[in-house]
Amino acid sequence: MRSDARVVVIGGGVVGASVLYHLTKAGWKDVLLIERGELTCGSTWHAAGGMHTVNGDPNVAKLQQYTINLYKELEQITGQSCGMHLTGGIMLAGTRERLDWLKMTKARGRYLGMELELVTAEEAAKLFPLMNKRHFVGGLFDPIEGHVDPWGVTQAYAKAAQAAGAEVVRHTRVVDLKPRTDGSWDVITEAGNVHAEHVVNAGGLWAREVGRMVGLELPVLAMEHQYLITDDIPALKGQKEQIHCIDFEGEIYTRQERGGMLLGTYERAAVPWSPGTTPWDFAQSLLPEDLERIAPSLEVAFEHFPALGEVGIRKVVNGPFTFAPDGNPLVGPIRGLRNFWVACGVMAGFSQGGGVGLALSQWMVEGDPGADVWAMDVARYGDWATLAYTNAKVRENYSRRFRIRFPNEELPAARPLRTTPVYERLQAAHAVFGDYCGLEHPLWFAPSAEQAHEDITFHRSNAHGHVGAECRAVQEAVGLLEISNYGKFEVTGAGSEEWLAYLMANRVPRVGRIALTPMLNERGKLIGDFTMCRVGAERVFLICTWAAEVYYRRWFERYPPPAGVTVRPCAMEYIGLSVAGPRSRTLLQSLTRTDLSTAAFPFLTFRAIDIGMVPALVGRISFTGELGYEIWVTSEYQRALYDLLIAAGHSHGLRLFGGRALNTMRIEKSFGTWAREYRPIYGPHEAGLGRFVDFGKDDFVGRAAALEEKESGGALRLVTFSVDAQDADASGDEPIWHEGRVVGWVTSGAYGHRVQRSLALGYIPTGLASATEGFEIEIIGERRRARRESAAPLDPSGSRMRG
Ligand SMILES: Cc1cc2nc3c(=O)[nH]c(=O)nc-3n(C[C@H](O)[C@H](O)[C@H](O)COP(=O)(O)OP(=O)(O)OC[C@H]3O[C@@H](n4cnc5c(N)ncnc54)[C@H](O)[C@@H]3O)c2cc1C
Repeated sequence: MRSDARVVVIGGGVVGASVLYHLTKAGWKDVLLIERGELTCGSTWHAAGGMHTVNGDPNVAKLQQYTINLYKELEQITGQSCGMHLTGGIMLAGTRERLDWLKMTKARGRYLGMELELVTAEEAAKLFPLMNKRHFVGGLFDPIEGHVDPWGVTQAYAKAAQAAGAEVVRHTRVVDLKPRTDGSWDVITEAGNVHAEHVVNAGGLWAREVGRMVGLELPVLAMEHQYLITDDIPALKGQKEQIHCIDFEGEIYTRQERGGMLLGTYERAAVPWSPGTTPWDFAQSLLPEDLERIAPSLEVAFEHFPALGEVGIRKVVNGPFTFAPDGNPLVGPIRGLRNFWVACGVMAGFSQGGGVGLALSQWMVEGDPGADVWAMDVARYGDWATLAYTNAKVRENYSRRFRIRFPNEELPAARPLRTTPVYERLQAAHAVFGDYCGLEHPLWFAPSAEQAHEDITFHRSNAHGHVGAECRAVQEAVGLLEISNYGKFEVTGAGSEEWLAYLMANRVPRVGRIALTPMLNERGKLIGDFTMCRVGAERVFLICTWAAEVYYRRWFERYPPPAGVTVRPCAMEYIGLSVAGPRSRTLLQSLTRTDLSTAAFPFLTFRAIDIGMVPALVGRISFTGELGYEIWVTSEYQRALYDLLIAAGHSHGLRLFGGRALNTMRIEKSFGTWAREYRPIYGPHEAGLGRFVDFGKDDFVGRAAALEEKESGGALRLVTFSVDAQDADASGDEPIWHEGRVVGWVTSGAYGHRVQRSLALGYIPTGLASATEGFEIEIIGERRRARRESAAPLDPSGSRMRG
């Protein structure tokens, strides 16, 4: 084993081997993979090897497509067979709702270039004769599905990497990791030490243990998973290989394995494996079978696919594999640990392993993953994702693997975890809560406790009317919203302005003022949108998306503040309430001696003022598009502030409103939001944020690329549509058609109660951005006429906010 390497990859499962191969492909040849047993001895060797292109996140779906297309290339390079069986596959729907979901999946596939085909139950039965069609109402056929040989794939990655100069060391455990002051690592192994510039944790079942070597508690948990292989089925004899099949109602997947069928389940009675610590003596091992646990799924399977129940069971496999709380991989650099990278929590190694290796290697070599990997970025989790939180969420995720997640559905596990001081008051006001980074926040308010429950649906839910009433109160009088679920940073010290001016695309505002700003990467793409609030000459309060707090902190490490400047995350320290609507000023004025007139406290003012006895930071700004104020207080004051506003609000027609109303109101104003309209695949001009980029500044991160984008006009445009929807609105990821062709995709959608029509935001090619007619948006399989709005549907001049 060499004693120096540019990269040490820990773990020789399918993921570590893919990372190794992709590093060599990206040009780094001096790379070493260390595996404590044989390659594949963790969760890889006993996998069923199935692969699919469909994923809930379109960007992860793209990486899955990449992975599947890679196998041929690997075989060509190495001569090693990957054992490919590209049979195609069918997802079966047993209910109308599942069929709606399949229609939406097909629609999304259109702009991802997937050729998915909706079929009737009869057609499905022709494709997959083992099914009893009376249990199904239709299906979705995907030609790019099948399975591979887990061992063959892992060997192929390793061989291709070795051919390019990489080294693979087996039967050697990494026992510790020690950082050096220059950011490199000493990798301590059973067979001696290796000095490495970078370390990748691809430890799979042991990723937590490898993380703990550097003080990291990664949110991953292994779950037991069982599949069985039947004896030969006479009906299969002499037939061509059966296609893959997913039966959502039975929570079953099945495919042919030699003369029989392999049948796996994601059972509701899910069982974690080694919830605290993974034993090191587990290698190439399986767990005791427990058919009792999967009996309910098997009963359904034998009814839906009778031939499977007519033969014996040849083999049962029970093995563990890991999941993150949301089921997506954990990939990327770790904040606070230089040159330490992770590629773990990959629950679908044969669909995702290639994409994970590609993204991580580009990130390491080029400084950027080269794709929008937010859905699998390890930075989406913060300290709140503790071991017990992870345990609860992973179990929930596993048992729901084949269940529909409706766009308005909130999941119950691990709740409530974080609450603000006004939580009980909001509960008493019949709030229906959502969960955001583990924090309970109100979505909408019901008239009574009995009605404080939302039906989950693809259509407008029972919340529709109540949300409408909240919007009207904000439009006509005043609404009160809890806004504690925003991210916040406080930047202090001499040099704060210079540092922020370099990091952010807009000009840092003067003292007492607010400026909105994109944050760009070197390629001029959007990696954040911030509200900069200048409290003092050397104190700036940044408001941003809370879910991206770790992501931002990691970016701030790349461009560290100079000595004397401190950047402090303070999301839960300053929590907030917002008042919005034409009477919000009169209400707030009745509680403060500070003059709130537009002359004295104009739009985009930010100041420390007292509200009653409560010291607060107040910004004159509102995401609703109405006259409004965001009020930030330290948490011990929030209850007093709430009580004060509620008591004084009675005479002004105050009504509580929640996140749902806020979402529809921001769409009426064509305001985008992070992770929806703003993502690292869009530039500021494409996203309509060009006016917040100050080219008057000599330099800032991404300036040259943003200038180029401005001059070329960019490839895409974010636009707003009014949609002839019926009882279902767009919610995101629907295709946008123009004159019979799919030209773009929706990022957000909702019914705009103030403008009384259904709306959607989405991206289309710049060349089409001046067209207003000829558009359609596909909602649950129906193409709905859509008109592009040439300005924000509500108050395009902004007179309400400014007045
Ligand atoms: C029953 C079953 C069926 C499955 N079916 C499918 C399927 O159909 N399709 C699909 O895509 N996925 C399937 N999976 C999941 C798939 O197995 C995983 O996604 C994949 O194996 C993850 O690979 P990995 O490389 O991340 O982890 P692992 O395979 O666990 O690899 C990690 C490696 O790191 C090594 N290691 C850890 N710590 C150290 C250390 N300190 N020093 C040296 N080496 C170390 C381990 O020995 C191990 O070999 C299935 C899993 C199971 C259990």
